[in-house]
Amino acid sequence: MPANPYIDEDLQALAEQARRFAPARVAPGFQERDRTRVLDRTLMREMGALGFIAPELPEDCGGLGLGSLAAGVIHEEIARADLSISYINLLASLNGQILSQHGQREVVQPWLHKLTRGEALFAIALTEPRGGSDAANLRLRVERVGDQYVINGEKTSISAADQADAVVVFGRTGTVEAGAHGVTALLVPADVPGLTRSRFDCHGQRAIGRGSLFFENVRVPLDHRLGEENRGFAQVMQGFDFSRALIGLQVLAVAGVSLEETWSYVAQREAFGKPLSAFQGVSHPLADFETQVAAARLLCLQALWLKDHGLPHGAEAAMCKWWAPKLAYDAVHQCLLSFGHGGYDRGVMEQRLRDVLGFQIGDGTAQIMKTVIARARAGRHAVPN
Ligand SMILES: Cc1cc2nc3c(=O)[nH]c(=O)nc-3n(C[C@H](O)[C@H](O)[C@H](O)COP(=O)(O)OP(=O)(O)OC[C@H]3O[C@@H](n4cnc5c(N)ncnc54)[C@H](O)[C@@H]3O)c2cc1C
Repeated sequence: MPANPYIDEDLQALAEQARRFAPARVAPGFQERDRTRVLDRTLMREMGALGFIAPELPEDCGGLGLGSLAAGVIHEEIARADLSISYINLLASLNGQILSQHGQREVVQPWLHKLTRGEALFAIALTEPRGGSDAANLRLRVERVGDQYVINGEKTSISAADQADAVVVFGRTGTVEAGAHGVTALLVPADVPGLTRSRFDCHGQRAIGRGSLFFENVRVPLDHRLGEENRGFAQVMQGFDFSRALIGLQVLAVAGVSLEETWSYVAQREAFGKPLSAFQGVSHPLADFETQVAAARLLCLQALWLKDHGLPHGAEAAMCKWWAPKLAYDAVHQCLLSFGHGGYDRGVMEQRLRDVLGFQIGDGTAQIMKTVIARARAGRHAVPN
């Protein structure tokens, strides 16, 4: 990677460590896991042992006390090898931040240590069958009964739904009219009675998968609440600015490795007596994507840098989240076409295309991200729902 102002020598060394690990340990099972749809727990524990999972968490939470950029550079290297496996990093960083900032210490700390050791996988559950974009309008019922919360309803389209060991769940403790001000976040272990789960047949990201969660009188103690009652949305949703920048790096890493492989292919494959790269119709679209991927990556690093410096970065994170997945999809598409008929066979390129597509929807669509940006620039009053 060319030097840039965000990656210092320590981060570069960390990235190199992850780059030695990922091609050797993660890449070999990339296609196999797409078929079996099973996340490799051994690999997850290895990643944990190497300090690759949520290194930004404080040491007393099992992290290394590094910045968000450290999470970013590791995330890129794992995603280059397998986007589904890099979900381990994404979900750990997103949920780890939520637990460490909003959970009750004695409840969340054991979970955080398991998370960073690669012994536990967390899912996050916002989306419901009636819709995901209008997230504040969620209806999963959460009632306080004595010293417990009782949960009833359904969440859907949840990444790792059936593989997670615990879930951060957003439910309604207030009235529907209260909107975002009636939402509470809870930590729900996946083995609680009354929780059942399903798995969808996904287009991509098949090793991590998605599915539904069905809650039937699921009970968790009050101390499993994350943040304050009815304030879960405003407090806990801030974690998404972090994951949006990470998702940007994740998909751009897939685009980056695809471009690298395509450059070397078009430089050696010949047509009409010349390498394919001699034709500007082949090389210029790749050069276009090379340019845009480099620019988008800097934007993601900038968003993480702003976060590490305690500066506002919500709009930048939303920019990463709408731009990078679309760009990555278009770039991988172009790479696939450059391989001719071979690109259309079952293989790494078509799998990458399926994998990156999910992030044009997951974690919020481009339309919703652009609304976030518009609100940041024009003011919330000027951009109502
Ligand atoms: C790969 C993947 C992983 C996912 N992982 C998770 C997860 O782990 N946890 C979780 O909670 N959810 C997850 N989701 C769900 C995801 O967050 C939602 O699908 C997403 O927020 C959109 O919600 P929806 O599908 O209900 O679409 P809808 O809200 O029904 O929207 C449908 C379309 O209308 C557009 N639209 C809606 N409102 C507006 C508006 N105001 N202006 C303009 N356009 C609008 C949307 O952009 C979209 O194109 C995942 C989804 C995918 C595909």
